Amino acid sequence: MIYVINAGSSSVKFSVFTESPLTEVVSGQAALRDTEIVLQAQVFGTPYESTYPAPETEQTAVMSLVHAATVLLTEQVDESPRMIVHRVVHGGTGFVKPIIVSPEIREALEHLVDLAPLHQPVNLAAIDACAGLFPDIPQIACFDTAFHADQSDLETHFALPAELFARGIRKYGFHGLSYSYIVSQFPRFAIPNSARVIICHLGNGASLCAVHEGRSVASTMGFTALEGLPMGTRSGRLDPGVVLHLITQDGWSADEVEHLLYRESGLKGLSGVSADVRTLEQSESAAAQFALDYFAYRINAEMGSLTAILGGIDVVIFTAGIGEHSVSVRKAVGQRLSQWLPIAIDDQKNVAQRDEISADTSQIRVLRIPTDENLNMAQLAEHMI
Ligand code: ADP
Repeated sequence: MIYVINAGSSSVKFSVFTESPLTEVVSGQAALRDTEIVLQAQVFGTPYESTYPAPETEQTAVMSLVHAATVLLTEQVDESPRMIVHRVVHGGTGFVKPIIVSPEIREALEHLVDLAPLHQPVNLAAIDACAGLFPDIPQIACFDTAFHADQSDLETHFALPAELFARGIRKYGFHGLSYSYIVSQFPRFAIPNSARVIICHLGNGASLCAVHEGRSVASTMGFTALEGLPMGTRSGRLDPGVVLHLITQDGWSADEVEHLLYRESGLKGLSGVSADVRTLEQSESAAAQFALDYFAYRINAEMGSLTAILGGIDVVIFTAGIGEHSVSVRKAVGQRLSQWLPIAIDDQKNVAQRDEISADTSQIRVLRIPTDENLNMAQLAEHMI
């Protein structure tokens, strides 16, 4: 059995896979809701739900969420795991494939916390919690940056002095576990390796990735997961002069700027209503509509940039919460793209949430493929050992 732990700041998603072939037998999440931890899962086909009191401090939240998940796993799954696989957001330049987390590796990953201050500590806390609860089981880290490790020098450099690149100040790209899962699905959808593909991972975090020959050529994310598209609460691309202005002219602290850019911006900041696309779609507020228009506008603009880098485009794929489910976001993006590309989304196929949503006349295929980061992590770990 393989356990997969995908830890975020307010929820921990988990899966259990039996091996040969990999089959998901348990899936669920433990999430913080006000004063409670709510644990919801499907365990061998049966729904399971329970609640625990929430921890008093944010620092212990991840440990408590992981603990709640592992209590369920220990009680409900007879066999102990052969390995526990963790999503780790940042692998820097050193970690480009999954690795067993030894004390030395754990320390090296700690050094990358500065590059992903909101995500990396949560991932490491989950590894620590599982190592404490299952001391004899290998803990394996899979990295969101790894899929982008082959990108060219032109793509990974900022126009800064070379010495900064050597110190790791460069583009990395994220959501790689989702992108590599989608690429693994290309044969199922008859997408040839030679196709020039743009994958739109649109969830609370959002990015686009240009793929050719199964590899990441370019992506909209950068040094941190703040770059590129506007997201649920993150700003996306921003003139760095804004940050300088807030600090030097308006006297903001670094913490205040960080909070603004990670937590109060994006769809939430623009709309003043919510970070959640479902809420925005139902809202009558003009600002909510503006936020959705802005999202589609920026996706179209970034598609232009990635299409130029690829030298053309053959396939567009939508994935993650918004990409998989939001009919209106896909439609709005499709309308903008159709003004400059030979592409058309079929309204009925889009509303019906079909896999292939392009019109028969469209020269560019448009697909909707649900992502599965946990399965991808289990596959990577299984191949590794
Ligand atoms: P995360 O990055 O946290 O994994 P998800 O991939 O779960 O995020 O995506 C969350 C986003 O997906 C939210 O904005 C949510 O509103 C949106 N979403 C989920 N289901 C739907 C739906 N049925 N219609 C529109 N948007 C949806």
